[in-house]
Amino acid sequence: MLRSALLCAAAILFPLPGSIAAAAAEVQPLGGKVSVLIGTSSNVLILPGENGVLIVDDQRRSDTKETLAGVKTVSPLPVRQVIDTHWHLDHSGGNGAFAASGAQIIAQRNVRVRRSSEQYMAAYKAHIPPDAPEALPSVLYDHRMVLREGGETVELIHVSNAHTDGDTLVRFRKANVIAMGDVFFNGIFPFIDLSSGGSVQGMIRGVDTALRMTNARTKIVPAHGPVATRTELLAYKSMLVTIARTVRKEMKAGRTREEIVASHPAAAYRGGMEGEEDRLVETIYDSYRVPPAI
Ligand SMILES: [Zn+2]
Repeated sequence: MLRSALLCAAAILFPLPGSIAAAAAEVQPLGGKVSVLIGTSSNVLILPGENGVLIVDDQRRSDTKETLAGVKTVSPLPVRQVIDTHWHLDHSGGNGAFAASGAQIIAQRNVRVRRSSEQYMAAYKAHIPPDAPEALPSVLYDHRMVLREGGETVELIHVSNAHTDGDTLVRFRKANVIAMGDVFFNGIFPFIDLSSGGSVQGMIRGVDTALRMTNARTKIVPAHGPVATRTELLAYKSMLVTIARTVRKEMKAGRTREEIVASHPAAAYRGGMEGEEDRLVETIYDSYRVPPAI
C-alpha cells in the first residue's frame, strides 16, 4: 500500500514530456570540470573532486542506477556530496541510497523540514510520506553557502518562495555554470508548488537572482529541459512577467479564476512549449490572491 502510494506520487511528479525523456541519460560537458547528466527524471550536475564526486540533485530513487552510471562516465570516485535543489522526489528521491553509501546530503534548511513530515501537494492531490531520518539532508544552510571542491568554487544561493520555499541555485564560478533546479523549466510551462511555499513572484525574483550572475557565456541548467543560455533565460522571465501582468489585470477587472483560465493568457507562448498551461495560469492567479508569507 505504502509502496504503491509512493510509486503513484513519483509517477505524477513531473511526468516528462516525450521529446525530453527521449534525450534522457546523456552526459554533456559544460566547461571546467562540470558536466550534466540529462536524466530521466531531472538533470544532474556532476563535479569530480580529489576524494569524491559532488552532484546536484539525485533524481528519483528508481533512477539511482542511471545517476551512478552518469557519474561513472566522469569519475571512478564515489559520490560524496549531494546538493538538493529542493525537496521534490524527482530531485531528492535518491537521497536515501546516496546517504547509505556515505554521501553528505546538502540542502537549504526548509528541504529538511519538508522531508521530515508528510507533505500534501495540492496540485497533484498527492500525499508524500516523510523520508527516513538517515536520508534527510544533514548539511543545512539558510541564505548562502560556499563549498570548495575539485578546484571549483560552488556557491549555493537560496531563492525564497519561488518553486517551493527551499530552492537553491547552484553556481559553479570557474566553469561559469548555474544550476537552477525547478526555478527554470526550459521549453516547458513551469510548475509552481504553492503548497510548498512557492509563488510566481518568487519565481521571477529567483530568475532575476540568476540573471545577475550570468553573462553571454554562462551555461544555465534547468532541472527539466536542455541546457540554456542567458538569452533563453531572459525569454523565460519575459514569459512569466507577461502572463503574470495579464492575470493581474484581469483580476483587477473583476474576472474570476475560471474566466481568466478560459481567456488563455499564456496562449502566445504555446509554440514549442510542453507542460500544463492552464495549471500555470491558475497558480499565478492563486499567487496573487494569497501572496506567500515571506
Ligand atoms: Zn520541483
